[in-house]
This record gives sequence, C-alpha cells and structure tokens, in this order.
Amino acid sequence: MATIDIHCHPGLKTWLFNSNFETDHPTLSKDFLPTDMVVDYPKMVQGEVDVILSSVYLPESSLIKEVDPSKFVKELLNLLFNVDKKAENNSSPNQPFEQTLEFINHFENKIELAQQKNCNVCIARNFTEMENLLEEKKKVILHSIEGAHSLGRAIDGNTPDYFDNINKLFNRGVCLITLAHFYENDIVAPVIGMPPSVIKKLKLSGERDSSLGLTPVGEEVVKHMLDIGMIIDLTHCTRKARDKVFEINNNRGAKKRPLVFTHVGFWGIFDHPMNPDKEEINKIKDCNGTVGIIFYNYYLMGKEEDDPLTPIIDFNPEPGIKYIFDTIDKIHNITGTYDNISIGSDLDGFTDPPDDLYNLARFKFLKEKLIEKYEPDDVGKILGDNMLRVLRSGWGNNNQQEVKTI
Ligand SMILES: [Zn+2]
Repeated sequence: MATIDIHCHPGLKTWLFNSNFETDHPTLSKDFLPTDMVVDYPKMVQGEVDVILSSVYLPESSLIKEVDPSKFVKELLNLLFNVDKKAENNSSPNQPFEQTLEFINHFENKIELAQQKNCNVCIARNFTEMENLLEEKKKVILHSIEGAHSLGRAIDGNTPDYFDNINKLFNRGVCLITLAHFYENDIVAPVIGMPPSVIKKLKLSGERDSSLGLTPVGEEVVKHMLDIGMIIDLTHCTRKARDKVFEINNNRGAKKRPLVFTHVGFWGIFDHPMNPDKEEINKIKDCNGTVGIIFYNYYLMGKEEDDPLTPIIDFNPEPGIKYIFDTIDKIHNITGTYDNISIGSDLDGFTDPPDDLYNLARFKFLKEKLIEKYEPDDVGKILGDNMLRVLRSGWGNNNQQEVKTI
C-alpha cells in the first residue's frame, strides 16, 4: 500500500519564498498563515505519505490585476515576490509556458538539494519509474499542473503550440493537468474557486460565467491529452466543460481513460459549483477515475472555520476528519464502493486547512482515524490504491515513456 496526496503545492512555496524542501518547517498556526510551508520532506516522512502530486500553479495574470489595482501595492508585491517574474507574464504567447518550465526547474533544484542532504526522495517521470522508486522505499514526487494558462495564451491572434507544450510537459514527467483554475484560459472556463472570505478580503468580483465551457481548441487539447495519457483533472472547470470532457472520453469507447477531480467536496453536502454531484460521481466510477477529497472545510461543508459570520458551532475537535468522513460516506452511498475516493489536500495552496489537518504530517492521524472506521482494504484504496490504478491506466500510453516534440 502506498499513501498518496493527489493534490498539493509545495512547489508554490519554494517558487514564491525560495523555501527548501528538506527543511522541517514549523507549523506556526493551525489557522491559515500564508508563509507557512506545510508540505516538505520531513512531513512526508512523519505523515507516512509515499507519493505527492506536486501541483505547479503559476499565479494567473488576471489574479494579480484584480487584486492589485494600485501601483503602490504592485510595487510592494514586486519588492516581496518579484511578481513580474513569478506570476504569469503575457509578454508573448509562449511566455507562461516558459515560466512553467522555470517553475519546474526551480522545484527540481530544491529536490536535488534535499537529496544532497540525504533525503530519500526522487521525482518519477513515468509510471514504471514511480513503481521502482516505491519498491526502493523512496518518497516520490510527481509533477502536475494547475491551470491550462501554463500551456500559453493567444495574444493578438498569435497562439502558442498547446499540443507541443503538452508533449514537452509529458516528457518532463508531468502526469496530470487541472484544466481550469481561477480565471478563464484558452482551454476552458472556471467556476468561482475561492471562498467568500478570500473574495471579500482581496476585493475580487467573485462572478464567473457558468454558460461557458471548453473552447474549440480546448476540445482538441482534451482529445490530445487522452491520446498521450496526460491525466485530466476536472476540478475548477464549469459544469458545462466537465460534461463535455466526460462526453469526449466516452466517445473513445474501450479506450476511455480514468478522469479525476483532485481536490473537491461533494455537491449534496455543500452545493457549490466546484463540487461534483451524484451524476458526476457515477461518471467518475464509469471511467474508473477517482475523486480527491480536499482539506478545506468551506468546500466540504460550506462553512469557513475562521469566518466570524458563519462559525462552525459544534466545536468538534476533529472538524476536518468528520467532514471528510461525511464526504467519503456520501460517495460510497452513490457508488457502493470505495474505489473512486482519494485524498487531495491542496495543502500549501494558500488554503485554510481544518484545525486537525494543518500539515502533511497529519496524514498519519487521518490514517489512524480511517482505520478506526473502515476496513483495512478500503483505507488502502482511499489513501493510495485508487490513485495508483488511475496513474497506471491514465498516465502514458502502453508504457510509452516519451512523445515526439518539435
Ligand atoms: Zn485548486
């Protein structure tokens, strides 16, 4: 059995703050503290987490524009983070893709540094490599991408080569792309992906157009990803886009691939457009995919922990665990199995994790609690086996380890 966190963001912290992966960063607050790094090598060891899908998120240019209407704030941000370099820069159609490669290089350098300091951790670039590393009892990192703006953006009628860029990412070892994120990209339109407190704090509009779906080039990109075996994550996509991806996948007949939601709650507990509903859970089951449950009370049950307007009133000492179990049970009621449930913490994604699941080391506590309630086989499925199955049949093509690039 391998324990896998199918969505987290240590690379975002190393990219923005130049933090090191081998350092055991103290968790200074169980509440949201943006500068805390809560996923690192020591916490992988303490949490008994074997594999993480480390998601590359290049902060979107629209986010920087919307957050930052004043020149003063922009200069301050630049001073702190070098926003022009670290956030999406649209100086040319391919620039966001080039920045994404730079982000990956930066994170890989940090992993190399960790190896030099005797950390038993490696990046796997294909499924076989991952299996071998697990056999050698190494901690494994897989690259994933959040937001297809990382494939580049059309500017003044000039388009990046989305397909070649996907191939290049595949050859770098990227196993999965979350098509949407906070803002529209050339592939797909998103739902609103932030909780009300954040929208309010950052004075964002909070409006998204749910009538939008996959773009025409987005449909071709989805087909290409399914062909080469780049796993498609539907998190953040509009319902319309999600329906279309399921349809395209179904049209492949026997060559259907497993699709995933990597970090969501369940529509039915909290009816938020981020969360898949009963029909979609059944579609995930149909394609042998999986749903990663997020460490975030807002998406799990519609209330934010630290929001004084909607406080959680039951004072449960295990608020996150309780809502994660509720979500597991709801999904199980629909599918009749535990075959399509995983964990995608979203830790280090500037999220506010529940007070009982404040860093990656808490996976050990989660595992203990799972074992108290569920059968060992089912715990194994939820913690890793389901995602292993998805990676086996969703990543790559008949063990083909490279695709042709220009
Ligand atoms: Zn996300």
